[in-house]
Amino acid sequence: MNKPNVWLAASPEQKQEIMTVADNYMSFVSLAKTERRFVKSAIQLAEGFGYKNINDYVENNLPLKPQDKVYYNMMDKAVVLFHVGSAPVSQGMNILGAHIDSPRLDVKPHPIYEKDGICLLDTHYYGGIKKYQWVTVPLALYGVVFLKDGTHIDVAIGDHDEDEVFIVTDLLVHLSHERMTKPADKVIEGEQLNALFGSIPAAGVEKDPVKANILALLKDHYGIEEEDFLSAELELVPLGKARTCGLDRSMVVAYGQDDKVCAYTCLLAQLETSDETIERTSACLLVDKEEVGSMGATGMQSRFFENQVAELMNCLGQYNELNVRRALSNSYMLSCDVAAANDPNYSEASSPNHNMADFGCGVSIMKYVGSRGKHGSNDASAEFLAKLRQILDDDKIVWQMGELGKVDQGGGGTIAYILANYGMQVVDCGVPLMDMHAPYEVSSKADIYSALQVNKCFLKNMK
Ligand code: MN
Ligand code: MN
Repeated sequence: MNKPNVWLAASPEQKQEIMTVADNYMSFVSLAKTERRFVKSAIQLAEGFGYKNINDYVENNLPLKPQDKVYYNMMDKAVVLFHVGSAPVSQGMNILGAHIDSPRLDVKPHPIYEKDGICLLDTHYYGGIKKYQWVTVPLALYGVVFLKDGTHIDVAIGDHDEDEVFIVTDLLVHLSHERMTKPADKVIEGEQLNALFGSIPAAGVEKDPVKANILALLKDHYGIEEEDFLSAELELVPLGKARTCGLDRSMVVAYGQDDKVCAYTCLLAQLETSDETIERTSACLLVDKEEVGSMGATGMQSRFFENQVAELMNCLGQYNELNVRRALSNSYMLSCDVAAANDPNYSEASSPNHNMADFGCGVSIMKYVGSRGKHGSNDASAEFLAKLRQILDDDKIVWQMGELGKVDQGGGGTIAYILANYGMQVVDCGVPLMDMHAPYEVSSKADIYSALQVNKCFLKNMK
């Protein structure tokens, strides 16, 4: 079976569109590197498309009607958008879901210490990383520090060329004779991920003078005391903007494409179909904490989505417990999370016989992910896959079927199984990446375009 290729199938106009979509994606993802920044940018964009805060309706007892568009901001770290269809919501929704958290280095509650005349910032890594990849990479610092009086300080260091950056050092190769014999998972360990934070000693201070100087700077510039780190969320993420890759300009190199490439294409599909009159309600669900098991109030295992479906139906005069359950179980969902692309440098880990996603062949639909005999996998139904094939092929969209690597090489999870718990039809569908979870990940512009097309087609045509 020959795989269709997006580049070969595209008209000259479509090729131009592929590049434009990628440019817009790269600008968005260069700023929205953390879940908080993603939520902020997403809401700004949605408001431009006429989306209103659902809380205004809920709190003021205002009614909603078909074709209205609302969003719900979950603690600034997750967001849900609804476009109300003309059919009762209990007939089911078309849901696009993705996650907006990515692997990174989180700053600890007691982060600042001095050793050998250097001030360091202690971190606890977030998500599954090869730790050795995160040293010698310049890092930006983003997040919030909440003070006891309830006010907060936004921290964003690294967006501007003149901003300072941070880095976790590695031992010079000249002295690494012993270190180089360690296995890859031991060569850099979690507690070694301490970023350089300062090196000027404060005059006349005996104990930890460099730290004293840093604390004075923090007080001066930000009004932050050392103990304010106890109520802070600060993330060190790879520095720099998303960039075009390859002499043919066909690929994107960027931090956090897992899963912001899918989150962005879900968001855009939801917004760009919002002018149309739709029958089935569409929802776009952008959640936090997938990389650490989808736990916590802002993760997919939280009930906030279900609660907001109830609020939405209440504003529509359609609420009762049974209707909410019907709405969820009658829904269809694309769980949009990045796939593993075949990497020619490591093809020994790829699933053979065209079962691995290839760059340029479109979004990868995955019947199952999981590991060790599909363990932990959602395993979408053949009936649902057939429906999806039908609508995508009718619209002449290039897509491919993929597996997450060769059998027993490893595996991974997504949010698919959590929504499937409601009894809805869910399938995994995502942009293939090389270098997943590395500081900089690679995607194909053709596949980003395919993801956007697939998501729009699903919202419009799945019934
Ligand atoms: Mn992911
Ligand atoms: Mn991931």
